[in-house]
Amino acid sequence: MLNKIFNFIRPGSKPSRPAKLNIIPRDHHPVSRKKISPNAVKVLYRLNNAGFDAFLVGGGVRDIYLNDTPKDFDIATNATPEEVRSLFGNCRLIGRRFRLAHVRFGREIIEVATFRAGHDKVEESSVQAATNQEGQILRDNVYGNQQEDALRRDFTVNALYYSVADFSVYDYVGGVQDLEDRLLRLIGDPATRYREDPVRMLRAARFSAKLDFAIESATAAPIEELAPLLLNIPSARLFEEVLKLFLSGQGFRTFSILRELGLFKFLFPGADDLLEAGAPYAEKLLTAALKNTDSRINANKPVTPAFLYATMLWPEVLQNKTVYTEQGLPPLPATHKAAQIVIEQQIKHTALPRRFSQPMKEIWELQERLVKRQGRRAEALLEHPRFRAAYDFLLLREQSGEQLEGLGDWWTEFQQSDPNHRLKLQEKTSGKSGKPRRPRRPRHRPRKRD
Ligand code: ATP
Ligand code: MG
Repeated sequence: MLNKIFNFIRPGSKPSRPAKLNIIPRDHHPVSRKKISPNAVKVLYRLNNAGFDAFLVGGGVRDIYLNDTPKDFDIATNATPEEVRSLFGNCRLIGRRFRLAHVRFGREIIEVATFRAGHDKVEESSVQAATNQEGQILRDNVYGNQQEDALRRDFTVNALYYSVADFSVYDYVGGVQDLEDRLLRLIGDPATRYREDPVRMLRAARFSAKLDFAIESATAAPIEELAPLLLNIPSARLFEEVLKLFLSGQGFRTFSILRELGLFKFLFPGADDLLEAGAPYAEKLLTAALKNTDSRINANKPVTPAFLYATMLWPEVLQNKTVYTEQGLPPLPATHKAAQIVIEQQIKHTALPRRFSQPMKEIWELQERLVKRQGRRAEALLEHPRFRAAYDFLLLREQSGEQLEGLGDWWTEFQQSDPNHRLKLQEKTSGKSGKPRRPRRPRHRPRKRD
C-alpha cells in the first residue's frame, strides 16, 4: 500500500550494465571543482601530480549532479594505501573489511580508496578475499582497475567518476541515465549483490528516501526474501546504519520504505511487532517522533541517538511496564525492569553504545519523575540535564494519544511562569497526581515555662 503512496518501485528501461564506457566531457555535465571541497581537490591534484589516477566518486559526484551538497567526498585511485600514505603527512590507514586511507584536514576527512575488484575476480584470485556460506564478503582487498572498481560498487548512480586530469565524468554502468530517470539500480545481479553485503538492502531504502528516487523493480524484487540476511550483520554495523537511516533528515520517509520492503523488522523487531499488530499508539508515536526529528535536522537543530532509541523502544517499554505494574510493582521499578528487558532484546539486533543507552534510560525514568511535581521537585527537575529531552518526549507521548491528564501543558506553563505563578500551579497539582501531600504536622512549639 505504501508503494502506492510513494510509488517507490519502478521498472527500469535499460539493462543494468552497458558494456561500453561512457565518457561525458566537461561541457556536458554539472560537476565542477568549485562544488568540490577544496581539500578533496587538493588530494585529487596531489595524487594526479604524483602520476596516479585519481577520481572523485560516489555520493560526491552523484549529489553534485543532483544539485545537492555532498555530505562527504570520496576519492578512488590506482595508488595503493601505502602509496597514498607516503604522499600525505596527515594520513591514516584504516579498516579491515576495506583498507582505506583517511587524509585529515582539521575536521574534514577525505577518504581515499584504492580501486578494488569485484567479487568475481576475487574468487579467482581468492588470496585476500573471503566469503561465508551465505555468499557474504568478509574481506575484500583485491585491487583492480577502474572498471572493476565501478562494477563492485552498489548502485549505478554511486559509480560515477570525476577526473581532475580531463574534467570528464566516467560512467561504466549507465549511472548518468539512471540519475536522469531518478532510478536506483543495483549493479549486476541484485540477489548476488545483496548476498555479498546485505546492508545494501538498507542502503536501497536510504537512498530512495534521501534522493527521492524510485527503486528499479529488479533491484527491489529480492529484498523481501533476503531481508533475514541482515541477522548476519554485526550489531555495531547496524547501529551505524540506523543512525544514517533515521538521523539524516528523511527519517520518516525512510521508515515507511523500510517497512514496505520488510526490512524494518530486522532493525527494531519489537517495535515492528507492535506496529504490525496495529497498535495505533506505536504508529502515532514513531510517526510523530521521526517527523519531529526530520524537522529538527532540517532546521539545523541537534538530534541524538538516545532520543531516537527512546521513542523507537518506548511502545515496548510501555507494554512491559503495564504487565509489571499489574503484577504489583510501583511505576518506577516497573519502568526500570521493562527498560532492562527491552534493551537486552534490542541490542541483539542493533547495538546501542552506553553513552546513548544511559541518557535514553534517563529520558524514560524522567517520565515517571515528571508526574511528581510537588514542593521543590518541579524546580529541581528543571535543572536536570535531561529535562529538555524528557519534556519533548512527554509532549510526543501525549500527541500520540497517551492519556496523561494534561501533564505536558502543565510543564509548558510551569516553565513559562514566574515564581508566584509556579507556586499556584503546584498548589493545583497537590493531591492530583503522584503521592498526595501529607498534611503538615503542627509545628512543635517549645512550651512556655511558667
Ligand atoms: P552518502 O555519503 O551521501 O551517504 P555515498 O554514496 O557517498 O552516500 P558512502 O557510504 O559514503 O555513500 O560510500 C561511498 C561510495 O562507496 C558509495 O557511493 C558506493 O559507490 C560505495 N559503497 C559504499 N558502501 C557500499 C556497499 N555496501 N557496497 C558497495 N559499494 C558501496
Ligand atoms: Mg559518501
